[in-house]
Amino acid sequence: MALPGECVNDNQTFCIDCGAALSIDVFRSAAGYYIGFCCPECGPYSRESGYYPNQKAAEKAMKEGFNGR
Ligand SMILES: [Zn+2]
Repeated sequence: MALPGECVNDNQTFCIDCGAALSIDVFRSAAGYYIGFCCPECGPYSRESGYYPNQKAAEKAMKEGFNGR
């Protein structure tokens, strides 16, 4: 089990707090777009990539594969 903020290194994980299944997706934060997990109950869960300048770049990286950070 990963702690919030840790790199999960998978396309799916489970929320450590509520047990919900989480799928990897593109999210936006103040610093930019990133690939990670977000729990519908608990909010942002982990960030698996670096930051991208826009959503398109992040989605492209998610499709083509990205090497952690
Ligand atoms: Zn949760």
